[in-house]
Amino acid sequence: MTRIYPPRPREVSPSARDLRAELNEEQYAAASHGTGPLLVIAGAGTGKTRTLVYRVAHLIDTGVPPERILLLTFTRRAAQEMLSRAERLVGSATARVQGGTFHSVGHRTLRRFGAAGGLPPDFTIMDQGDAEDLMQLSRAALGYAQKSKRFPKKETLHSIYSSHINTERAIEEILYQDFPRFVDYADDVTRIFADYTARKSDRNLVDYDDLLLFWALLLEQSPDLATRIAGQYDHILVDEYQDTNLLQARVLRGMCRDHRNLTVVGDDAQSIYSFRGANFRNILEFPQQFPGARLVTLEQNYRSTQPILDVTNTLISRAEERFTKNLWTARVGGDKPWLVTARDEQQQTRFVVDRVLELHEQGTPLREIAVLFRAGYMSADLEIELTNRKIPFEKWGGLKFLEAAHVKDVLAFLRVADNPRDEVSWYRIFMLMPGIGDVTARAMIQSMAERAWDPDAFTHFVPPPRARDAHQNLSRLLRVLRRAGDDGAALAEQIDAIRQLYDDILRERYDRPDPRLADLDQLRTISAGYPSRAAFLAALALDPPSSTQDLATGASESEDDALILSTAHSSKGKEWDAVFVIWAVDGWFPLARAAESEDELEEERRLMYVAMTRARNHLAVSYPLNVYSSRRSMDYSMDQLSRFIDRGVREQMERVVLGDDDKPDATAPPPVPESPIDLRALLLGRFSRGSGGSGAGGAGSTGSPGGTDDPAVR
Ligand code: ATP
Ligand code: MG
Repeated sequence: MTRIYPPRPREVSPSARDLRAELNEEQYAAASHGTGPLLVIAGAGTGKTRTLVYRVAHLIDTGVPPERILLLTFTRRAAQEMLSRAERLVGSATARVQGGTFHSVGHRTLRRFGAAGGLPPDFTIMDQGDAEDLMQLSRAALGYAQKSKRFPKKETLHSIYSSHINTERAIEEILYQDFPRFVDYADDVTRIFADYTARKSDRNLVDYDDLLLFWALLLEQSPDLATRIAGQYDHILVDEYQDTNLLQARVLRGMCRDHRNLTVVGDDAQSIYSFRGANFRNILEFPQQFPGARLVTLEQNYRSTQPILDVTNTLISRAEERFTKNLWTARVGGDKPWLVTARDEQQQTRFVVDRVLELHEQGTPLREIAVLFRAGYMSADLEIELTNRKIPFEKWGGLKFLEAAHVKDVLAFLRVADNPRDEVSWYRIFMLMPGIGDVTARAMIQSMAERAWDPDAFTHFVPPPRARDAHQNLSRLLRVLRRAGDDGAALAEQIDAIRQLYDDILRERYDRPDPRLADLDQLRTISAGYPSRAAFLAALALDPPSSTQDLATGASESEDDALILSTAHSSKGKEWDAVFVIWAVDGWFPLARAAESEDELEEERRLMYVAMTRARNHLAVSYPLNVYSSRRSMDYSMDQLSRFIDRGVREQMERVVLGDDDKPDATAPPPVPESPIDLRALLLGRFSRGSGGSGAGGAGSTGSPGGTDDPAVR
């Protein structure tokens, strides 16, 4: 299937010259690489993403039809950004490049080719919450709901299932390694998974993992189909390859079976998604997986000043094993990163806000400043202060708009209209309606199943007297939804119709209905951008908006200037002029639960590395000394600086201790000079710390393909 494109007639294209001028030698070698597998493995800020953008431009420039290039990125936003940068190089043809996340491309593939594998094309995609609910139905149907308390809950079951699919480990092995207390339940768990799988198939539901798994299976099971699916593209490029999992590697092998034109770029030192089944072995083993692969490494960093690199190089040099080397930069000057000690959270907040305003007054746009933290809830105090002081901000990651109960409620109505077999959504709707309880709800579902889920099955059900009104109202609404035309305008009308019924329910349920009603207004607004109900539902499940701004416009970044607040996970691949990493407290970053496992600690270290390497010119890492935490059933405790900021790292930072007036305290005793040993750390190290953090976190869950956070800590 290899295609050979005749070179264009002109001698030297202008962009070929640009390529040489705007890339260093190694970057250029990668961007202009011909055919066959290519691996670019290099540290943060060395221009991997930039090289990929230029490679897309180069391919188009040498005659590869843009629609035959597939660009796989970690978020939809990343693909959009890269393509708009490529557009500046080679023009509007880049609009035809196919791009997106693995899950969204899997989705497109299944809609188009799934029927050949017995998958009706009008399937509904379940998000993680739906999948857990369906797992609960299986668990209950098989009689495990009553079982001893120690039996895995629906979230755990889903996480085991997802881990099994994505990491290809046996169920017994997962139980043994990750959930030893459930190790005796392997058979029961397997039975539940069988039921879950059958339920998905009966109801034409597809979970996130299926999007990858079925894609891989289509490629592996039928040579004809594989030829057609893989034959759509001549070149495949993947950014952030260190965060792919084995299933994604399998998909790539299938997609590149004929041409082997695969370019992957990544940094093993930034692999931060193993809780979603990612395995950085993928990148290290790429040369074995794709024999003959060309390897390009990059060591010059173009993002950060040398003092910032000194700190981040030291931080990552403590990592257990890594491939990528220390980085250097040609940029001279720059201040040492600050290590800021605050008395408590409030003082840390005031420090960040004052410093942000100071930088802003000196000319840095707010959008060029980011505050990063380990988990979504850690910015609560800062968000309040920013709101009070009328400083606009956007929050990335940890956003729960689509997970909010009221939004899911409204979507459930649309979903049963779209797929009458969507049992999970039916159950959700029934439990909302006054007069319908669990028994009636189950009876209704049972009767619809008996009528093979025909769209009128619900109307034919004869409800008990208490539920009569609810049944009548719902039947009426469903008729309206089913009759509605299928376009964007009709979608807004459908949401209005649902709200005629639902808004009263919402007002009954919540003491403060207004912000929730506003969310529903927003849902209606974004629905206008979609051609059909099915497209809207699929887009929400696959590419959940990753910032409040995404919600408002449906587009990526807005023009408005706003400070960025982001989880460390969601900051991946980005850069800002100034970066604050807050809550650098042991038990918070790293999270307490990570302390139990070497592997998790290593991943937290890489996450800290990702956070700190986002900074171009200014970096401040802060930690409050006194932490009030209701999580710990104690009042105040003295906390310790994150273990990642060890002595060697601290030595390269500027110590700042905040005084009573929130200014660096000149009269305070100077920060303790670095001593050869750290007595307190030695003593503390003898006790396992159970402080802070988010409590238990389920490992192995794949989370949402569009969201980018550790679900355990959102
Ligand atoms: P990360 O590992 O964080 O994803 P990366 O390796 O993908 O980083 P990029 O984001 O591509 O790095 O590049 C970092 C910054 O350096 C960007 O602002 C980019 O434009 C700039 N840069 C990279 N290479 C060059 C170059 N040859 N000349 C000028 N600027 C460059
Ligand atoms: Mg990058």
